[in-house]
Amino acid sequence: MKIGIDAGGTLIKIVQIENNERTFKKYKSTEIEKVAEWLKAYPDAQVALTGGKATYLQSLIPQQAFQSIEFDATFKGIQTFLLEQGKSIDKFVFSNVGTGTSIHFVNGDTQIRAGGTGAGGGMMQGLSYLLTGIEDYDKLTSLAKQGDRDIIDLKVKHIYKGDKTPIPGELTAANFGNVLHNKDIHQFSDADKIAAVLGVVGETVTTVSIHAAREFGAEYVVYIGSSFLNNDLLRDIVMNYTVLRNFKPHFIPNGEYSGALGTLGLMDEA
Ligand code: ADP
Ligand code: MG
Repeated sequence: MKIGIDAGGTLIKIVQIENNERTFKKYKSTEIEKVAEWLKAYPDAQVALTGGKATYLQSLIPQQAFQSIEFDATFKGIQTFLLEQGKSIDKFVFSNVGTGTSIHFVNGDTQIRAGGTGAGGGMMQGLSYLLTGIEDYDKLTSLAKQGDRDIIDLKVKHIYKGDKTPIPGELTAANFGNVLHNKDIHQFSDADKIAAVLGVVGETVTTVSIHAAREFGAEYVVYIGSSFLNNDLLRDIVMNYTVLRNFKPHFIPNGEYSGALGTLGLMDEA
């Protein structure tokens, strides 16, 4: 059996391969000791690690694991997923929206880090908690769908009030910029606030990503990371904003496991 593990800041992503069949699972990073206990049941497994907590996990387990650099592992996993999907793009930007967001440019078989932003899944949870007191991830993402961002965010069309706009009117001019205009006529619900948080996170991630795509002359932006899990609103915001800015978004199913799958791939090649 082969086990690939990407131990990240918030979640530990695991890909298990047995008889050519893949199983995906995840744990919270706070449960790393539990993952180590689970690994002890498979002393003969070939284990490959990556991610910020890889070295700590290695110190807890009996297997002598292969380790790879997270960015290389993630790229390797993305290549594998794209190949399996029959999606043949070889010049693109990928944006890994995890606890934070890391952005990379790919040209053929090489990737370079193009930048990043602190806006990501951690901000989504932390800022939402400050505004609403809600911690549970699934509660956050399901509430978000019922929210109304229009009373919180100021769009270009709100400023131009029907006049011809120099850029698309649907673009956000100021995240949270409509709050003071509406404070006396609207009550802001938890759902509205969370939707607006997903808005600022999604649009920041998209903006930074497409700037990288423009800089390097790429047409596609590939988005991965657990922040999109069970989170249709974030996915829609990122997809629509990427299209509105004239780039092509692509989401990889199970993309959050790219690092875990990729470190296994690199182990096989080593
Ligand atoms: P990292 O590699 O930094 O751990 P991930 O790609 O796993 O990052 O994404 C972490 C983000 O995924 C969290 O910040 C949160 O927004 C989101 N997330 C998705 N599912 C969960 C969950 N069950 N528990 C906590 N966060 C989750
Ligand atoms: Mg990660």
